[in-house]
Amino acid sequence: MSFSVHNRKTGSRFDVEGDETILDAGLKHSIVFPYSCRGGTCGTCKARLVSGEVGYAHPPQALSPEELAGGSVLLCQAVPSGDVEIEATELAASAEIQIKIMPCRVAAMEQLAHDVMVLHLKLPASQAFRYLAGQYIDILMRDGRRRSFSMASRPQAGQDLELHVRHVPEGAFSSRVFDSMKVKDLMRFQGPFGTFFLREDSDRPAILMAGGTGLAPIKALLDQAFADDNHRQFHLFWGVRARRDLYLHELLETWAAEHENFRYTPVLSEPAADDDWRGESGFVHEVVLKHVDDLSAHEVYACGPPVMIDAAKAQFPAHGLAPDRLFYDSFEFAVDD
Ligand SMILES: Cc1cc2nc3c(=O)[nH]c(=O)nc-3n(C[C@H](O)[C@H](O)[C@H](O)COP(=O)(O)OP(=O)(O)OC[C@H]3O[C@@H](n4cnc5c(N)ncnc54)[C@H](O)[C@@H]3O)c2cc1C
Repeated sequence: MSFSVHNRKTGSRFDVEGDETILDAGLKHSIVFPYSCRGGTCGTCKARLVSGEVGYAHPPQALSPEELAGGSVLLCQAVPSGDVEIEATELAASAEIQIKIMPCRVAAMEQLAHDVMVLHLKLPASQAFRYLAGQYIDILMRDGRRRSFSMASRPQAGQDLELHVRHVPEGAFSSRVFDSMKVKDLMRFQGPFGTFFLREDSDRPAILMAGGTGLAPIKALLDQAFADDNHRQFHLFWGVRARRDLYLHELLETWAAEHENFRYTPVLSEPAADDDWRGESGFVHEVVLKHVDDLSAHEVYACGPPVMIDAAKAQFPAHGLAPDRLFYDSFEFAVDD
């Protein structure tokens, strides 16, 4: 059974087969809506249902009952039950990127903090893997579960992919990484996914806000900007708990010294007594607002724990940030089927 989706905002039309979601069917046809977690929780793919009906495989957690009743739709979960018309933003930048399943081999592992492992994944030389700096992949576990991790490296032919994996207590994948994974292990992943990448059509100063391993895609995005000789102003605020969690502090300080257009502000929420910390402390989103009270001229790229993203969504618009200039990947926990 197939139904048609018509996007009234752009005029594009495509078919949805069986129980495909609108987001997945769009991606198959190179039509990319802004999206992030694909689990129904982050809300990036909210759009408007103009006509027709959709069903949901899982409850669309990111939609309030009022939003549902008012005609909002969550494209990553919505499965049409007939022809539908929607009103949704589309992105051109990643339309050429193909989502693939790829094998890879663990080339190196480096534990940079008590709970952060950096993985370097080697891809087969015979298969090209294209992505945009900032996107993520899903590791496909042997038992069928999937786990999302952002690429911390910018795309470069023949180079390994770099992932920053935080150890989640009892975490199915991250515990394997910390307890039993070895160099040369084989894995499979699917990707690239997501629309957390630098909007190239803007030269607004960019505030980059990372929480913990939310640094990973922001590192890729910055590395790409430096390689492209992009002269936009970038100010990174990196929030972690204590000094020992700043696992790439020296690299970021070096970048700040080398690039005139890059500033770096580390923020500790709970500095340890022996940290002797004289830098910023508190919640990272509050420190952003302390430095830049008026966000009306800025874009914000935020990545990390859902609570940090929710704080940015709730508070930054009151400081002048247009909602369509807040780009984020919320590091939601995986939802297993
Ligand atoms: C787009 C995207 C990109 C991501 N990129 C990265 C990345 O680069 N680096 C990174 O470290 N993480 C990243 N994450 C987060 C990561 O995918 C999840 O933390 C994932 O669930 C970890 O897998 P795991 O198998 O180790 O733990 P899981 O097996 O998924 O979870 C372990 C335990 O935590 C419990 N749990 C579930 N929800 C919560 C909650 N809200 N609070 C506390 N405990 C909970 C579960 O019940 C489970 O028992 C990303 C997430 C998304 C959506």
